[in-house]
Amino acid sequence: MAKVKIAQYWGAGCGGCDVALLDIDEKILGVADMADIAFWPIAVDTKLKDVEAMPDKSITLTLYNGAVRNSENEHVAKLLRQKSAIVVSFGSCACFGGIPGLANVTNKKDLQDYVYNKTFSSVNPNHVRPQPKFEAPEGELELPVMYDTVLTLDDVIDVDYYMPGCPPTTDQINSFLAVVEKHVKEGAPLPPKGAVLASQKTLCDECGRTKEVTTIDKINMPYEIAIDPKKCMLEQGVICLGPATRAGCGAKCLDANQPCRGCMGPTAAVMDQGGSMLSALASIFRTADNETQLNEDEILQLMTQIKDPLGTFYAFTMPKSIIKRKVKEKKAGVKQ
Ligand code: SF4
Ligand code: SF4
Ligand code: SF4
Repeated sequence: MAKVKIAQYWGAGCGGCDVALLDIDEKILGVADMADIAFWPIAVDTKLKDVEAMPDKSITLTLYNGAVRNSENEHVAKLLRQKSAIVVSFGSCACFGGIPGLANVTNKKDLQDYVYNKTFSSVNPNHVRPQPKFEAPEGELELPVMYDTVLTLDDVIDVDYYMPGCPPTTDQINSFLAVVEKHVKEGAPLPPKGAVLASQKTLCDECGRTKEVTTIDKINMPYEIAIDPKKCMLEQGVICLGPATRAGCGAKCLDANQPCRGCMGPTAAVMDQGGSMLSALASIFRTADNETQLNEDEILQLMTQIKDPLGTFYAFTMPKSIIKRKVKEKKAGVKQ
């Protein structure tokens, strides 16, 4: 009987998505029965040249996690696209840029200046920087070229499905592996191309906290107040991205009495997660009795209370947002 062939690659991410695949409980043994691992750098010793030698589309499913941050990430993404029938943007870094995507508030030069010269532990009087090529006695050594901008997987290749989450949950992974197995073994249909393999609801829909229609007049950081574990965070003045975030995690952070940071990304109805959250916040912020919208002063009053607006509203989605990145330097003759 046909066996599923799986590849997993780790781009610019933390490794949590790789661990998430290992962490699908005893079902990982079922995966070993159901699938051959064609490529998974942290788990098996297949080299890139082995992948290059595989026939096109011979890998059933590639789960690519992490953003695209350098030339190696892009090269492997393109190679795996060529060799795979199905490619899933696995985890929020691959889908939206994730936490690494916050580096789009700066650029490669400023980042490297800081890391290689300005930290307390940097001792680098000659301002040495990573070089893509280096002549060593043993021969030429190469390093991937770091990009100026953090990209999402679908910025560089055609993606079939998106599985958001930081990392995706065991349920998301198991359900999709079951669908792929049924497709390979019984010819069952796959979801429509481009589908997001997660709940269609918002996190507020699955959060059990009590919600009353109230207004707030102050934003609180989570450490500034004793948070009532039964009441909606927003109604206590704590910014929680539940209204602008896809459900499916089981409201994990809320269970730990911490607000949602939005790691599942926006729902289909939302174009820009940060913008949507700002609008949700504005709707409960205290307004004058006879006004339905905030005036300019009130918007300013609201915004000045938020200590880190980009990190608060775009922690996981900046490269996929309408902002995409902060322009650090305009090239002559180029409109930006
Ligand atoms: S989505 Fe989260 S767990 Fe996965 S690589 Fe990115 S930061 Fe790590
Ligand atoms: S805003 Fe947060 S705490 Fe309030 S209902 Fe939504 S998910 Fe729950
Ligand atoms: S509560 Fe929000 S930040 Fe926490 S795991 Fe769920 S979606 Fe992610």
